Amino acid sequence: MSEFDVDLFVIGAGSGGTRAARIASGHGAKVMIAEEDRIGGTCVIRGCVPKKLFVYASRFAEDFEDAAGFGWSVPKPSFDWPTLRDAVANEVTRLSGLYRKGLEGAKVAIREERALVEGPHSLRLAKSGETIRARHILVATGGYPAFDPPIPGGELGISSNEVFHLPSLPKRMLVVGGGYIALEFASVFTRLGVAVTLLHRGDNILRGFDEDIRTRLRDALAHAGITLRLGCTIDRLELLPDGVRRAHCAKGGPIDAEVVLVATGRRPNTVGLGLETAGVKLGPVGEIMVDENSASSVPSIHAVGDVTNRVNLTPVAIREGHAFADTLFGGKPWHMDHNLVASAVFTTPEIGTVGLTENQAFAAGYELRVFESAFRPMKATISGRQERIYMKLLVDAKTDRMLGVHILGHDAGEIIQAVAIAVTMGATKADFDRTIALHPSAAEELVTMRTARAG
Ligand code: NDP
Repeated sequence: MSEFDVDLFVIGAGSGGTRAARIASGHGAKVMIAEEDRIGGTCVIRGCVPKKLFVYASRFAEDFEDAAGFGWSVPKPSFDWPTLRDAVANEVTRLSGLYRKGLEGAKVAIREERALVEGPHSLRLAKSGETIRARHILVATGGYPAFDPPIPGGELGISSNEVFHLPSLPKRMLVVGGGYIALEFASVFTRLGVAVTLLHRGDNILRGFDEDIRTRLRDALAHAGITLRLGCTIDRLELLPDGVRRAHCAKGGPIDAEVVLVATGRRPNTVGLGLETAGVKLGPVGEIMVDENSASSVPSIHAVGDVTNRVNLTPVAIREGHAFADTLFGGKPWHMDHNLVASAVFTTPEIGTVGLTENQAFAAGYELRVFESAFRPMKATISGRQERIYMKLLVDAKTDRMLGVHILGHDAGEIIQAVAIAVTMGATKADFDRTIALHPSAAEELVTMRTARAG
C-alpha cells in the first residue's frame, strides 16, 4: 500500500484549484479537494460572474434612454433590486453546482471544510478531524478583501463579498479605492440609481494603466454622475442614529452614505493555513513565493492563483493550475507565460488592454510610434449620448511590432480578446494595416490608423 492517501490534495475549489484537480485526475492521479466556502471560488461566487451580471443590469439604464432617439417610446423604466439580486444569486448557485458536477465527473473526492497544512505531506480537515497524507499539495486559496490600514469604525464598511447581497438598494453609496473593484461597482450602482461618491487616495484612478485611458475613464465616470474625491483618505467611519454611515475624511467635508464599500485591494489567503510550520516561504503580503512552475520553497507544496499574487486574474489561475497538473501528473511539462495577459475593466465605458502601457514601453527603452483615435460611436450620433471611444496603439519603431493596445469604450473587453491573439503572435503594425476593415464597426479603427502622433 502507498504511504500516501492521495497523489494530490488541493486546498480551494476556485478557478485554479478546480482546473488543477480535474486535469490531474484525468492524468490518473488520485485527487482530493477541500473547500471551506462554496465550490466555485471568488470568480464564480463573489467576483467576475455575479459582477458581470450586475454590469449588464446597469447598462439597461442607458439603453432605455438611447432607444428614444431611434423611435422607440419607452414607458418610464423602474428598477427592482431584489429581482436582480436574487436572479444573480440563483445563477451563481447553478454555476457552483456545475463546478461540483465537473469535479465529481472527474472522480475528484470533495471535502467541504477547511483544510490545514501540518507538514510537507500532511493535512488535517478542521471540522471532521480527518488527516490525510498527500504526495503533493496544491494551495489555491485565492485572496480576501483587505481593510487596511484599520480605521476606527472600519467594521461599518462592507467589501465586495457583501455587496451582492444588500437587503435593499441604498440611496447613497461611498466607494473607497481606485482599482478594478471600486470602479466597476461605482459604475454599476450609479446606473442603478444610487448617488455614488468614489473616494481614492491617489490623484488619478487605476494606477498602472495607460495614462490616457486613466484620465479619459476618470472624466467619463464623472460625466456619468459619480462624485469623485481624489487625493483623499478616510480617518474614521461613524454610525449616525438613523443608520447612515458618516465618513470623516482627511481632506474636505464628511461624506454620508447608507453603504460604504471598501475596495482597497485584496490579500493572499494564507493566514492560519499552517504553511509556515510546513516551511513554506511567504512574501511581504502573505503570498506564497513560487517559481515559474508554481513550486513553493517546499518541493511537495505548490500554489496557483491569487494566493501567489502574480497576475490576479481568473484565466491566469486556470492556466497555472492546468500547467501544474500537466507537468506533475501528465508528463507534459510547461509553464504559464505571465508577460502578455489581456484584461478588461468592466466599468461603463469599459477598458480593454493588452501589452505595455506607454510609460512602461518608454521605461523599457523602446522608441515608440503611438497611434491614437478618439471618435463618437455611430450609435451615439442618433441616440445623442455624449460618448466617445478611445483607442491607442503602441508600436516599436525599430521592429514595427505591436507592443500594446488600449481601448476605452463599448465592447472594449470583447475587442481586446481578439486583438490579444494577434499581439501574442507578435503582430506588427503592417499586419494591422493589411487587415481589411470591417465596416461599419468601432473596431475597424484599429486597422485604419495611419498617422503616428507627433512628438
Ligand atoms: P486593486 O489593486 O485593483 O485596487 C486597489 C485600490 O485600492 C487601488 O486604487 C489602491 O490605490 C487602493 N488602496 C490600496 N491600499 C489602500 C489603502 N491602505 N488606503 C486607501 N486606498 C488603498 O484591487 P481591487 O480590490 O480593486 O481588485 C483586486 C484584484 O482583483 C485586482 O488587482 C484584479 O487583479 C482583480 N480583479 C479583476 C477584475 C477584472 O479583471 N475585470 C475585476 C475585479 C478584480 P493605489 O493605486 O494608490 O495603490
